[in-house]
Amino acid sequence: MEEKAGRLTGKTAIITGAASGIGQATAELFAMEGGQLVLADVNEAELKSLVMQLENQGTGVIGIKTDVSDEKQVSDLVSACIEEYGRIDIVCNNAGITGDLSKVNLEEQETDNWIKVYGVNVLGAVYMVKHACQPMMKQKAGSIVNTSSVAGIRSGAGPNAYSASKAALVNFTQTSACDLGSYNIRVNAVCPGLIETGMTKPVFDYARQAGKEEKLGNRAELKRYGLPKEVANAILFFAGDESSFITGQVLPVDGGNTASLNMPGMKF
Ligand code: NAP
Repeated sequence: MEEKAGRLTGKTAIITGAASGIGQATAELFAMEGGQLVLADVNEAELKSLVMQLENQGTGVIGIKTDVSDEKQVSDLVSACIEEYGRIDIVCNNAGITGDLSKVNLEEQETDNWIKVYGVNVLGAVYMVKHACQPMMKQKAGSIVNTSSVAGIRSGAGPNAYSASKAALVNFTQTSACDLGSYNIRVNAVCPGLIETGMTKPVFDYARQAGKEEKLGNRAELKRYGLPKEVANAILFFAGDESSFITGQVLPVDGGNTASLNMPGMKF
């Protein structure tokens, strides 16, 4: 019997922050859809274990320890992808950090924390696009998907450095979509709401220990938090050919959180 082609059969994708949460779910989904993968993360042990899992399922995959805030490491990652597969069809700029959560007031915050958060969340994506767009321009094809956040389009969903960095990523999605559109390179972003991942584990642990699990995600109109796979589904849509006429767009994947002003007292 002829094997059914997946949505990403014949395509090569780089995914950053692939060892956990949304990145891991994206890698697993892309593998199911027939993509060949270059997975990057700072967490080498978890990265290796995911690569082994996907290899055992028959996926063409390599894992490369990469800190996306280091331009040389990003440029090496892109070169490794070209060396292994000869092309780059998809880049998922997914690696991200919240930074220091302990200081709410700006006047108390360390400038170094802002620099670190911007280094990963903004410059990480900038370096990836800068280096990956070069082979994509030669191919005259490519799809880039950035993982921003609801924090990048509204206040109140994360620390201010994190929120500002995710807003910058929304705007970088739009400017790079305009810069690269004539090369048939599309750039889009997803904005997850509250998703259960490594990043949000402390929030989930706290709520569960305090017996407040029902509060998790209750600000979303769907009255629940999301799963990494639900974000991965949106990333797959932007990454593959089903979104072939969509670029420069930003899609909240948030259970309706950003659809509302979310003022409980005003709900009739
Ligand atoms: P996660 O489970 O913590 O996964 C992120 C992965 O990225 C981790 O393996 C992390 O390694 C890695 N990473 C951190 N810094 C890196 C760097 N400099 N270079 C390469 N990899 C790095 O978090 P997640 O929730 O899946 O986050 C994925 C993306 O979704 C992030 O951009 C995040 O801002 C965004 N997001 C998440 C939520 C949510 O509710 N979870 C909501 C909105 C947006 P370590 O664990 O070792 O740091």
